[in-house]
Amino acid sequence: MEPLGVEVLDGFAVLEGVGLTARRELLAAAVQRRLAPHELLIEQGARNARMFLVLEGELGVHLDSPETDPVATIGAGETVGELGVLDGSDASAYVVAASEARLLEIGEEDFWRLTNVSHAFALNLLLALAARLRANNATVSKNVQKRRMYERAAMFDGLTGIHNRRWLDETLHRMVERHSRGGSELSVSLIDIDHFKSFNDTYGHAAGDHVLTIVATTLAANLRPTDLVARFGGEEFVIIFPDTPVEQARIAAERVREAVAAQTLAMPDGTALPSVTISMGVTALAPGEPVPELLKVADMAMYRAKQAGRNRVVVGQRTDPAP
Ligand code: GH3
Ligand code: MG
Ligand code: MG
Repeated sequence: MEPLGVEVLDGFAVLEGVGLTARRELLAAAVQRRLAPHELLIEQGARNARMFLVLEGELGVHLDSPETDPVATIGAGETVGELGVLDGSDASAYVVAASEARLLEIGEEDFWRLTNVSHAFALNLLLALAARLRANNATVSKNVQKRRMYERAAMFDGLTGIHNRRWLDETLHRMVERHSRGGSELSVSLIDIDHFKSFNDTYGHAAGDHVLTIVATTLAANLRPTDLVARFGGEEFVIIFPDTPVEQARIAAERVREAVAAQTLAMPDGTALPSVTISMGVTALAPGEPVPELLKVADMAMYRAKQAGRNRVVVGQRTDPAP
């Protein structure tokens, strides 16, 4: 191949500010390379101890396999491989010629010689490294945001918009632990909509879904800001009353029950629906009691509210016989 003039190095960002003598030495040491389209230059996972300057053509950067779509392309005036030479790590991607390409290859020794003689080159490498770090950080923070979004979605019920069972399990465990240690009282209520199957059968599932949302909203709207409500599953809900003795929780539950019964219901298009009622079991955490046991006592009390005629609140006792 014919010898190249030093002007071929003009325009390479990595050589910005590098003096003429150092450029001439670099060019004398460089090996000219030609790549055919699809020719592999750098293999992912393999050690690459050379920097390439692209004089003409384009290279594709591919993750996982050289056959995948390129995640980036490298064109004339750009370099590849320098970070691998710098830190001696294996290549993180495949680099393949996207078209016929002409390159200059700089070996490891010549690369390090240039960093020694040219402060500008060393600085340019630092800048390239910083840019790469920033790009990685941007990806990481995008991923963190995405994960937060999914975590948030995983904690809320898609239909009613209130917290879901998963959130309840985590929160209730935390609260029970805290109250067991702290000695203040914690009450819970388990809620079930009355005759909801026949409501669905009569008015349709869409109407049922709509009513579930209204009930959820009514519950939340009639609680203190410190009380917590979640959809337990199906047409069942749980309220957590932190720092609340059972008698106060019972009074709050009565208020909530009345609010649901008094709520006039209509479909979004205005079609009137009959109101629904709820049955509620209320209980306080017994010292050292595990969460499933607490919920079982609340559930048994709710069941007794059903048996007693529905649309009522029953306080559960630890001495209650199993149904
Ligand atoms: P009870 O007063 O004894 O609670 O009677 P019920 O009919 O409410 O009780 P059952 O457990 O037999 O039925 C619960 C019904 O709730 C079954 C189902 O039709 C309805 N349901 C549960 N989840 C949903 C939901 O996400 N959307 C709708 N539309 N209905 C639901
Ligand atoms: Mg039920
Ligand atoms: Mg029910």
